[in-house]
Amino acid sequence: MTKATEPTEHVVSFYESKEKIHYREVKGRFDRLRDLSVITLLGGYYLAPWITWGGRQALLFDLPARKFYIFGLTFWPHDFIFLSWILIICAVSLFFFTALAGRLWCGYACPQTVWTEAFVWIERVVEGSHTKRKKLDKGPWNSEKILKKSTKQFLWLSFALWTGFTFVGYFTPIKELAASLFSNTAGGWEVFWVCFYGFATYGNAAFMREQVCKYMCPYARFQSAMFDKDTLVISYDEKRGEPRGRGKKGTNREDAGLGDCINCTLCVQACPTGIDIRDGLQYECIACAACIDACDSIMDQVGSPRGLIKYTTEHQIQGNKTKIIRPRIMIYGALLALLCIGFVAAISNRADLHLDVLRDRNALYRETTEGRVENVYTLKVQNKSNEAATIELIVTGLPGLTVDTDPPVLVLQSGELKTVPARVQVDRDAAQAGGHDIIFAIKRPEKEQPEASRDARFMLPIN
Ligand code: SF4
Ligand code: SF4
Repeated sequence: MTKATEPTEHVVSFYESKEKIHYREVKGRFDRLRDLSVITLLGGYYLAPWITWGGRQALLFDLPARKFYIFGLTFWPHDFIFLSWILIICAVSLFFFTALAGRLWCGYACPQTVWTEAFVWIERVVEGSHTKRKKLDKGPWNSEKILKKSTKQFLWLSFALWTGFTFVGYFTPIKELAASLFSNTAGGWEVFWVCFYGFATYGNAAFMREQVCKYMCPYARFQSAMFDKDTLVISYDEKRGEPRGRGKKGTNREDAGLGDCINCTLCVQACPTGIDIRDGLQYECIACAACIDACDSIMDQVGSPRGLIKYTTEHQIQGNKTKIIRPRIMIYGALLALLCIGFVAAISNRADLHLDVLRDRNALYRETTEGRVENVYTLKVQNKSNEAATIELIVTGLPGLTVDTDPPVLVLQSGELKTVPARVQVDRDAAQAGGHDIIFAIKRPEKEQPEASRDARFMLPIN
């Protein structure tokens, strides 16, 4: 009889410690395009709150006053629809551009990519190339390492706090914020948000980096649902590249049975997410095109045509023609165009005056000593323009209608909302007994057309 073997115990850890990726810097067409995008987007982000327009900050989301200033436009809580509209346009744009060109957003414009690029640039300036950085990480804590690491951390933290300060500067006038921070008189919440947003930037761009794209970003998970066989992806040309291998010096690769890939692994070293594009399309790929630049530089050196790794489509890889105009592109494109046109039209026709009419529910009507019938309403009038406005009230719908407000002349400052009682009177025999529709409208004396109107019900006695 054989003796039963003792069960052995294996401890399996579900935690895989993260190994820092020091990706290699490569130069090329797409690297220049990404640099341009990063400089433009970061430049816009840091400079925009400092622009002045009409005597105030051009971009200011003043939450306590519930007013959003965007250059010459002021948005109020009533205009929340426009914010929703912008968000819908952003979502449909993402669908449209993803279906057309894949993860263009991830590779060139996503804040995670943009700030990571900036943080890696600082790291490269302080610690040197990817090989020097790896060596420094592995080396002992000597004076050089302490100096380089502390300089990098200081620059990272300063940049992150400046990012947090700029972010808060979109919600609090940035010049006042800067003055209050320097004079140590800033409010607790302002300091909290500067630090919170600063440390979020620091954590994401200095440490998390590709982990955000791989494990946290929801877009990485669902973007494949918008892909089809004609979507632009970055792909390795397996037919041309395989079998890969270095080959002997002086031998013809074709004769040696080798493809164009010399297995230099430069494409892997250049990848910020640490994947090998030669293994096929992977969800970790953020389509930054660094592997294309890397491989193109190798192809140039060995005298082979560029494009072993390239932007292509699944149809093209299979030898078919790529269709750019296809139903989903047309649907997303038409929807996007309609939303944009509608948005521009709605913004340009947006009225500066807003009116709401509430009927007095305590009394249907009142008969005056002059034999007229009076209905009372409460008007809510708001001036959404950037200047004070004198407002005329007009009521139509029945012959001989008159209206009295208290005060008789309405003058509203910029942004002011006034609640005003209004008494509307008409002769008893002006119309049949019962309810009648009337229209309240407001206009400025210098304008011909009313800028806002509301329907209301006017009651005449039944007996
Ligand atoms: S595989 Fe290429 S395109 Fe994808 S993330 Fe890596 S370097 Fe960028
Ligand atoms: S860079 Fe090009 S040649 Fe080098 S391993 Fe990658 S695919 Fe092959």
